[in-house]
Amino acid sequence: MTADIIDGKAVAADLRARIAASVAAFEAKTKETPGLAVVLVGDDPASQVYVRNKGKATEKAGMRSIEHRLPASASQEEVIALVRALSADHSVDGILVQLPLPAGIDANRVINEIDPAKDVDGLTELSAGRLLLGKEGLVPCTPQGCVILAKSVRPRLEGAHAVILGRSILVGKPLSLLFLAENCTVTMAHSRTKDLADVCRSADILCAAAGRPALVKGDWVKGGAIVIDVGINRIGEGAASKIVGDVDFEAAKIRAGAITPVPGGVGPMTIACLLRNTLVAAARRRGLADPEV
Ligand code: NAP
Repeated sequence: MTADIIDGKAVAADLRARIAASVAAFEAKTKETPGLAVVLVGDDPASQVYVRNKGKATEKAGMRSIEHRLPASASQEEVIALVRALSADHSVDGILVQLPLPAGIDANRVINEIDPAKDVDGLTELSAGRLLLGKEGLVPCTPQGCVILAKSVRPRLEGAHAVILGRSILVGKPLSLLFLAENCTVTMAHSRTKDLADVCRSADILCAAAGRPALVKGDWVKGGAIVIDVGINRIGEGAASKIVGDVDFEAAKIRAGAITPVPGGVGPMTIACLLRNTLVAAARRRGLADPEV
């Protein structure tokens, strides 16, 4: 058996096209264009690439991209002042603070200055609490993307055993709550989990978000399981370096029913879900129904 390869690029392109159509409908109705503000502090090269890509994708979806760059020497108070100003600015619908922030700046304090109605990364304490309580809020992008990918092969996840490798606040924890909301039975695994291979082998849906290259071996995958690989790990040096996931893809695809590649799986979904959150935030802030995207 060889798994179906879940094409994250295609699923994300389809979602982005629906968002663009919805943005046009939003503009026709409100005469306003949703705007996403991205705050970049310092000159981390990877962060610069991410911010540029987010800006391009935002404009391609027909929304406004507003970039704010502060030098690495900016103080915590300066960053907070900028986030407060964006929170108060009516023309801004979404605020994203690019992480990591330079050493010396408390990311939690900065993030929690974002107006939760504009928290398109879903990282404020209020957004996290609303997700836990099952209340309406903005949901972190990468976990949202994982669930959309799983549902692209199995539209009803009810009753499935979802095993999540990793318990970070960015990926693992919110993902567990999203799968619970889909009526899955959820197991969280982490670095202290005993018999990790057996735990993984019991998964109908296995999500790997540990940040460890090829941690998940082929024989950790139950026959026919859906495997969602969140990991982004650079291995090798210089020109020979490449990006791999947390799953031994070649070995796992022989047993899985469906599997996401790295790159080209979860990655493209993260930006698409950011655009979706921006549009949803713009609609909710104006008392409109959630767009159907
Ligand atoms: P993180 O904060 O470092 O968390 C990693 C989690 O994995 C921790 O809970 C850790 O357990 C667990 N873990 C680490 N080694 C393990 C092992 N050997 N066995 C079992 N569990 C282990 O990472 P993150 O921010 O969640 O990101 C995880 C991965 O996803 C990274 O590769 C990251 O680059 C990638 N990522 C991708 C996207 C995307 O758009 N595709 C977005 C975000 C992140 P403990 O809690 O016990 O330490």
